[in-house]
Amino acid sequence: MSDSVFVLHTGGTIGMVDTPDGYAPVAGALAPYVDWIVENSRGELPPIVFEELDPPIDSANATPDDWCAIARVLHERRKEHRGFVVLHGTDTMAYTASALSFLLPSFGKPVIVTGSQIPIARTRSDGRQNLIGALQVAARSDVPESTLLFGEVLLRGNRATKVDASGLDAFDSPRFPPLAAIGIDIDVRDSLVRPAGGEPELRAGRLGEVAAVRLFPGFSASILANLCRPPLQGLVVEAYGAGNGPSNDRAFMAVVEAATAQDIVVVVVTQCVRGSVQPGAYATGSALMRAGAVPGYDMTCEAALTKLAVLLGQGLDTSVVADLMQRDVAGELTRRDDVAAPTGAGAT
Ligand code: ASP
Repeated sequence: MSDSVFVLHTGGTIGMVDTPDGYAPVAGALAPYVDWIVENSRGELPPIVFEELDPPIDSANATPDDWCAIARVLHERRKEHRGFVVLHGTDTMAYTASALSFLLPSFGKPVIVTGSQIPIARTRSDGRQNLIGALQVAARSDVPESTLLFGEVLLRGNRATKVDASGLDAFDSPRFPPLAAIGIDIDVRDSLVRPAGGEPELRAGRLGEVAAVRLFPGFSASILANLCRPPLQGLVVEAYGAGNGPSNDRAFMAVVEAATAQDIVVVVVTQCVRGSVQPGAYATGSALMRAGAVPGYDMTCEAALTKLAVLLGQGLDTSVVADLMQRDVAGELTRRDDVAAPTGAGAT
């Protein structure tokens, strides 16, 4: 293994240029800036090997094929480099960082997804600091998992979510503490990091057909029924509070029941920013479980969706997928079965 860090530029604001339509990716625009930063670091940054997705994209255009393409490149290069940095747009960065944790089990080396809110070519860009932080984390051996670095935090990739459309601290992981603070020093909280172990795998063959819906008062059963048809294999329901849904709407519950009876895996997460689904806490939540849905506990929607897609792509029996969706497989989920059900008004 060499000392180098592999940098894969997939697109995003960090390498974008101004066009009459707004920022857009341009092939080759980022590389000279990255080279300059590394060459002028007086040895504070590791040597890099830089590659670019062809063509680089705005991450609003990213697809599961892109997650798989990124995972394949990292897997192929795993032995050659000490760490990996994926430069990516912020819009769907949390999905890609989540997907990589499930597509590359036991990768055993740091994978840091980062980008910026202001292009690196602009004077006040946050891209330079984010890139430097990511390269320094990638050159260490104490965070061997898929992470997302942005501003002053290093987050577990499958716990991260974009929380700010314009601020420079654009990401947070509200249900899990940051793995490291990026300040004067890079302060890693070792007790939170998943230890390396196991045989590295690549699960980027085929992904399942999944969707996510956010409940809202008046969600029509017939609209849900239209979604729960082939090719759908898995559905993430962002439910209210502790995992509650419209249990009085018989037609809605019947659609959920029919979907799970047809082997569509329905996973309930909460649309709250913090906290967890608590099965059995409310009758309105129990109704979803009785209809065959399973609790996704404190998973982010991004983690639940990408995990479901990867597991369904493995061709596992749907009962196995439903079971794994309730368990921690890559640090994405904490089950607090010992937490008492909330009591009193406004408890969720
Ligand atoms: N639209 C851009 C992207 O996600 C936003 C960004 O990178 O900040 O690619």
